[in-house]
Amino acid sequence: MEQSSRRRILAIVGMLFAAAVLIAGALIFQRNKKDTEASRTAFSMGSAVSVKLYGPHAAAGAEAAEEEIRRLDEEVISWRIEASELARWNRSAKAGEGVSVSETLGRAVEQSLELGERSEGALDITLRPVLTLWGIEDASEEQFQVPTDADLKHAAERADRKGISVTRAGKEEQGALLTRSDGETVLDLGAVGKGYALDAAYDRLQSDFASSVSGGVIAVGGSVMVFGTRENGEGFKVGIRDPEGLPEDVLGVITFPAGTKKQCISTSGGYEKYIEKDGVRYHHIIDPATLHPAESGLVSVTVVCENGLISDGLSTACYILGEEKAKKLLSLYGAEAVLIRTDGSICITAGLEGRVEVRGEIRNTKDEEG
Ligand code: ADP
Ligand code: MG
Repeated sequence: MEQSSRRRILAIVGMLFAAAVLIAGALIFQRNKKDTEASRTAFSMGSAVSVKLYGPHAAAGAEAAEEEIRRLDEEVISWRIEASELARWNRSAKAGEGVSVSETLGRAVEQSLELGERSEGALDITLRPVLTLWGIEDASEEQFQVPTDADLKHAAERADRKGISVTRAGKEEQGALLTRSDGETVLDLGAVGKGYALDAAYDRLQSDFASSVSGGVIAVGGSVMVFGTRENGEGFKVGIRDPEGLPEDVLGVITFPAGTKKQCISTSGGYEKYIEKDGVRYHHIIDPATLHPAESGLVSVTVVCENGLISDGLSTACYILGEEKAKKLLSLYGAEAVLIRTDGSICITAGLEGRVEVRGEIRNTKDEEG
């Protein structure tokens, strides 16, 4: 063979080899990329659940997180699902006789009762009879009737937040004794459950995937949790819905830097669930002081703090309490918030300053009290 044609063959073989190496490299890169990011969506707690995680075991982590949320609802905290621990307690606990319950349920009730106390009863996990009478979450517009004040008062007699107690045998002990002083009082963790699901999902990831899931975003209805860092090295942005707009319209965005520790972001607003009757809007957040849908000068409250249950409970309580009392309550928990007033202006608490990007024509008022 001639010297020149042998060189040509060598060159062609060389090029083919190089191409093969490139293709193999690209395939491996793609596989790795796939492995480092995983998304799942499901339906749980009457809401959409979405999980997006990053890290080598993102897919397994996302499956575990989703499973944990479903399990928490079905087996522990749902008042609607008959087999759950809470529903069983609601049906069978005798007045004054403590029932031993799981650590998970005990802690949820304990944290919710404390928030009830600190919010002057704005958050009341025993309000179910009143909520059922309104029926705003379940009734259709045709069936809906505005309850009479007499009926509301009667239903409220069965709400007894102060008659519920959680006691523990010892500090190290797991589990708790859950007691009601009146055998009729029932518990409903609907106002805090989605946030608590975020706590449960996070704890599961911490115990099983601490070194193999590096960050993510989990959303259960209006409660969102972010932690860690995205695969591209960036942090996270969480949108705040425009109360006047469609569900996908975003009024502002809160940014969380890369490497952020667990942060939970919960929003409550009267626009989320409501029924219209004779031109009046009746929404699903009931003020225990009036037994009517809360009217406090706020249209939406977004709370940011580390604890999911607290962020969820605070957003409901702050929405009921109104701006002044809300600020005091938030500071008791070291929580931050974005409050949207009925006139469309916004209040951002000091700790979120510079981290909320407001879109559109909204008047932005800083929190003067700090
Ligand atoms: P969502 O469940 O729509 O995310 P919230 O977290 O604000 O909204 O919780 C509202 C739900 O909590 C209502 O649908 C109702 O079941 C329940 N609820 C309404 N008012 C109260 C209240 N004052 N205390 C405790 N729970 C409440
Ligand atoms: Mg809530």
